[in-house]
Amino acid sequence: MSAPIGGAGVIARENPARTAEIAGVVAETPAEAVDAIVREADAGQRKWAARELPERLAVLSRAATSIEESAAELATLLARESGKVVGDCRGEIGFAVRYLRWVVEHAPAAYADRIVDDELGRIVEQRKPYGVVAAVTPWNAPVILGMLKIAPALAAGNAVVVKPSPLAPLTISRVVALFEAPARVVHGGAGTGAALVGHDLVRKVAFTGGADGGRAVAALAGDRLTPTVLELGGNDPAVFLDDAPFTDEAMDRLVMASFATSGQVCMAAKRLYVPSSRLDGFVEAYLAAADRVLVTGDPLADGVTMGPVISAAAQRAAETLRAGGVVHDLGRFEGDPESGYFVRPALVAGPDPGSPLVVAEQFAPVVPVLGYDDEEAVLDAANAGELGLGASVWSADEERAFAFARRFEAGFTFVNTHNRTGMSLRAPFGGVKRSGWGREYAHEGLAEYVQTCVIHAPAAFRPGAGVAAGGPSAYPPG
Ligand code: NAD
Repeated sequence: MSAPIGGAGVIARENPARTAEIAGVVAETPAEAVDAIVREADAGQRKWAARELPERLAVLSRAATSIEESAAELATLLARESGKVVGDCRGEIGFAVRYLRWVVEHAPAAYADRIVDDELGRIVEQRKPYGVVAAVTPWNAPVILGMLKIAPALAAGNAVVVKPSPLAPLTISRVVALFEAPARVVHGGAGTGAALVGHDLVRKVAFTGGADGGRAVAALAGDRLTPTVLELGGNDPAVFLDDAPFTDEAMDRLVMASFATSGQVCMAAKRLYVPSSRLDGFVEAYLAAADRVLVTGDPLADGVTMGPVISAAAQRAAETLRAGGVVHDLGRFEGDPESGYFVRPALVAGPDPGSPLVVAEQFAPVVPVLGYDDEEAVLDAANAGELGLGASVWSADEERAFAFARRFEAGFTFVNTHNRTGMSLRAPFGGVKRSGWGREYAHEGLAEYVQTCVIHAPAAFRPGAGVAAGGPSAYPPG
């Protein structure tokens, strides 16, 4: 991935759709400034945690309103720094606001003390904040992935220091500034991330990104025994069973499940499996769907559904994937393809099943489709590899689809769609094998930002119980 351009200490973020244009500038945070910011956050956290939960939640509600009021401007900035189409950027800001409000609604139950007072004694379970949370986030959905950490961390009484990707540092910085709470941002690449994660006063790490960054962050945090949440990449399979109809509506959904954000989505449909006998019909229906829904061009232009990739390095990497099998160019292009890091989206039919396009996360607008003849074999192929983030199964028979879905090694499986569904806030992000370690989103996401501390007065030793000190406990250790 190319380094952001700029002089020493400055990150000047270029617009990947118009590389002659700078979307905005932030100052890089030197290591000594990271130290000062974490110390300030730590001091602020004590005061923040001392405020009653409803007061903290009122601050979060006000932030939700402020973000909502600036939504149009924030969405435009996000499109300019990330190359995502502006409609999706509006969706991202809207989702961040909904998630923040969902946290405000559910935090009181999630963070309340649980008290048992019965014949065995009195137990109080407290949910306490960790202290300073380090949130290290990727560029592809910087506001959502920041908010999934910021909202529950602050609600629980933590301070949070966000280290966004230098490839999309602008919008999330504006969002963080709208919180009247101990929430700060530090800027830079891996070195700044390491200075933050390795800081003595950081008591919890929440990382979303790729395997290499995750490994480095987990090692650093492990060295300090700092609890860590990791959300990593995926190589999601989409399996069409032999009865799945190729309706226009389903195919339109599938195409955008692969090509939204130019394929740079953790839970994009990254490998397609179709019965061999139906492969030709599938490719025909897929190309027709791409003609209907896939328009590559400037993310701010009306009607465009796919922008550029994030950087020159991502563009070069995507071009190398357009090889092997039969390469079908998809959709149409509007505007000037030379103005930014554009890649012609492609479906690659029948590539080598061992090729990098199939076995690794491509994170690019190039998608393989492979034929299969046996359901057991395709399930093995879908489950191969170390990543297990999402998956989908497509069938006319929902019971059959659910039976198949149960056998996926994936944290989140969709039926007759893939990812772009407005996922329910009742379900956490899944992730098995090396895709997830900890949980974001929903109730499990709230639980990640508190520690449970138990106070126990055994009945036998309570004042007035009449049992001599040192007498038998009602709770023999099991
Ligand atoms: P990345 O791993 O390169 O960077 C993520 C963040 O970690 C950035 O802020 C980066 O500066 C920082 N970082 C990288 N190396 C570091 C180190 N050694 N020490 C400290 N910090 C370090 O990821 P990316 O390219 O920005 O994002 C793409 C990846 O993220 C893909 O694999 C994608 O699937 C994954 N992703 C996962 C989810 C999810 O919820 N599971 C969501 C979005 C993206």
